[in-house]
Amino acid sequence: MTDHLFDDLLAANRTYAENYALQEFDGVAHAGVAMVTCMDSRLDPLRLLGLAPGDAKIFRNPGGRVTDAALEAIVLGVHLLGVDRVLVVPHTRCAVATNTAAELRDRVSASAGVDASWQVFHVVDDQEAALREDVRKVRTHPLIPETVAIGGFIYDVDTGLLDRRV
Ligand SMILES: [Zn+2]
Repeated sequence: MTDHLFDDLLAANRTYAENYALQEFDGVAHAGVAMVTCMDSRLDPLRLLGLAPGDAKIFRNPGGRVTDAALEAIVLGVHLLGVDRVLVVPHTRCAVATNTAAELRDRVSASAGVDASWQVFHVVDDQEAALREDVRKVRTHPLIPETVAIGGFIYDVDTGLLDRRV
C-alpha cells in the first residue's frame, strides 16, 4: 500500500518484534484463564489480573456480553486451550449500559451524517441482571463442565478494582 495511514503503528510494531519472545508459546492459556469483557479502552484485561501475554484468552465486545460468539470462544478455550476459570467482566460507566439504543442511534446518526436507525445496538438496561444472565449462559452450557469455575465481576474504571457479583 502507498498510503501512510498506519506508518506510526507499523514502526512501533517493528520495535515490538525486535524483542518478541512468544514464538515458543503454544496458544494455550497458561494461567487457565478466559475473560469476556468490554472493548472499552480503559480496560487492560491481562494487567488488571496480574497476567501477561500467553496467560489468558480474552474475548471483547461492546458491554462484555456473553454472546454466541463468546460462548464459542469459551468452549474452545475450555476444551482445547487449557481454560479452567472464566471471568465475565462488564464495567462501570459503560456506554452500552448508560445509553438507550435510541440515544446510541441518535449519536451515531449525528456522527455519520446518515440514518443509523437500522443499526442494532445491544444496550443493557440492568447491568447486574445482565451479568447474572450472562454467567448463567456459561454455567448452563452443555459443553462447559462443572469443573470450570465461572465468576461475574464488575470492573470499576475509576479505581481499577474488580468486584465479584456472581
Ligand atoms: Zn463498555
